[in-house]
Amino acid sequence: MAHAAGELEVVMDAAVDPLVVCGTDERILHVNAATERLLGWSRARLLGQPVSRLFPVRLRTFAGHSLPRYLLSRRAALGGRPIRVFALREDGVEVLVELTVGTAGEGEHARIALTFRGLHEVIDTLEDPVEQAEPGMSRHLDDRARDRLYRLLVENAPLGIFHFDRTPVVTACNERFVDMLGSTKRVIVGLNLLTLRDDRLMDAVRETLKGHASDFEGDYVAMTSGKVTPVRVRFAPCYAEDGLTVEGGVGLVEDISEHRHTEAERERHLAQLDMLFHSAPIGLGFVDTNLRYARVNDVLARINGVPAEAHLGRRPHEVLGPAGVPIERMIRQVMETGEPAVKHEVRTDVDLGAPGPRRYLAGSFYPVRAPDGRMLGVGILVEDISERRRAEEERNRLYREAQEAIRVRDDFLSIASHELKTPLTPLSLRLETLERKLERGEPVDASVLHRARRQLLRLTGLINDLLDASRIEAGRLALHPEPTRFDTLVENGVRAMEAQREDHLITFEHPREPVRVHGDSYRLEQVVTNLLENALKYSPDGGTIRVALTVRGDVALLSVTDPGIGIPPDQQALLFDRYFRARNVSARSYGGLGLGLYISRDIVERHGGRIWVESEVGHGSTFYVALPLQPAAHVSPDTSHAGPPAH
Ligand code: ADP
Repeated sequence: MAHAAGELEVVMDAAVDPLVVCGTDERILHVNAATERLLGWSRARLLGQPVSRLFPVRLRTFAGHSLPRYLLSRRAALGGRPIRVFALREDGVEVLVELTVGTAGEGEHARIALTFRGLHEVIDTLEDPVEQAEPGMSRHLDDRARDRLYRLLVENAPLGIFHFDRTPVVTACNERFVDMLGSTKRVIVGLNLLTLRDDRLMDAVRETLKGHASDFEGDYVAMTSGKVTPVRVRFAPCYAEDGLTVEGGVGLVEDISEHRHTEAERERHLAQLDMLFHSAPIGLGFVDTNLRYARVNDVLARINGVPAEAHLGRRPHEVLGPAGVPIERMIRQVMETGEPAVKHEVRTDVDLGAPGPRRYLAGSFYPVRAPDGRMLGVGILVEDISERRRAEEERNRLYREAQEAIRVRDDFLSIASHELKTPLTPLSLRLETLERKLERGEPVDASVLHRARRQLLRLTGLINDLLDASRIEAGRLALHPEPTRFDTLVENGVRAMEAQREDHLITFEHPREPVRVHGDSYRLEQVVTNLLENALKYSPDGGTIRVALTVRGDVALLSVTDPGIGIPPDQQALLFDRYFRARNVSARSYGGLGLGLYISRDIVERHGGRIWVESEVGHGSTFYVALPLQPAAHVSPDTSHAGPPAH
């Protein structure tokens, strides 16, 4: 018997499938090696034990029968087909198996034989983490330890893992997968994937069963809660031991909600950045570590005068010519030092060959690094600061002008006070002398009175000039034009001047015909007098003042030439500005407020005429006044004389 039993064991061990034999009392008599391997029980621990120990408690009785008996009772109906059931391993893990139950022998030799075919494990308990396993285990991994390690791996994988057979029914899965699906392992193991009614999923499964790995991405809708989880499943075929037949497949499930979320976030950020990149009012670009443009926005393209696409893949000197060389130098420096180079100003007319008006640009270069610190390239930021620069220049100009105006005003005040005071002292002296003489009853010298009057006239003249200048500024210098004999007017002026001056000779070249203009004779006389006074004043060494009046076409041309100090060429155009005095006249040697020519120009121009000067320093000056002649039709006999001053 012992021999027979031993022989039976040898035969049973040779069988591929796990096999358990028990008596009619359902106590285990034989266990083969495959059973030991599949269920982890050691033979010694099982012998004599009730066979029900091999099944979870809930499966031990069925319709009042033990599981083996129940299956035996249904033998006819099953027709030898195995049923799928959970077996219990010694370590408490349930294993899905295909179980066939049969009987052999009669009477006391009657035996019940249970054949298990191991499907994949249903892993739902995890004990003994690897760390707690016996020392040295990693070197001598026995099957159980390897098993445990394997389970640990599967359970802790950050992926849902499930196995399915060809039917395709889920035969095993890890907790993570159960969590993802929001169901229970009970429901999932044994679930036919067809029932998920997802065509694309089924395509992937079919592909897998054909032996091709395939991917599926979609939304899993939880059966109970309806919760939608976006998932990605990588399918891989599982081969039978022959290595050829596909017996099922494994799905590795990744919950990509987070991923989808980050993806969406990323897309949003990118869209925002893109929008900023393209709509920013400054030039933006990026060059890679090979110094080639990888991105360029429209503003930068415009600044460079080259279309954005024409930048891509090319280096600054290829796009911009020599102007790109210093830019490349700058980029290289930023990449080498890792330090940004901020606000380098360039002028387009000098440094950048871009066409168009001169512009001022400020360029900044920033190192761009990957999160791990690797240099990716350099970001370029170019700002067109022309407006700002121009505003700055304008501001500086206005400031300079304001300063100049203040200086002119101060100068003017000191000159004006000096000018006004100068005639006062002799005037008051003369009046004192007169007063004394009158008190003493002495005869009064007419020349003293005459000089006093000249001083008074000079004062009046200065004050009148000031008043006229302010009237002109306010646009309130009134003119009263009437038909006027300009030749007579000039002659009177010359005569009056001659009477005053002894040191100078004044010649007057008359026109052949009367010269008639339509003008304000008082104001025109003021112009002539001013020119004559200046000619005398600025010819300190005496000499001849030549006055000429001619008619050129329909214009009366007056010229006053003096042999005086002349006017520096760069100042000639400015003489007619308010308060302007040429730099070769010092306030001390030549008194004056710089108003006479300003007033004269206003008067002449308002008569439709023009006033200008030709002069050479040290050789004298000629001032010209051109006035339109009065049209012949307007000439009437009674207006052929210059009228008396109307003011
Ligand atoms: P003022 O003579 O009171 O300074 P004007 O307006 O008449 O003012 O003249 C302005 C400036 O033009 C003078 O200060 C002087 O520098 C210059 N100028 C005018 N006439 C002459 C001249 N005949 N010769 C040289 N410089 C002259």
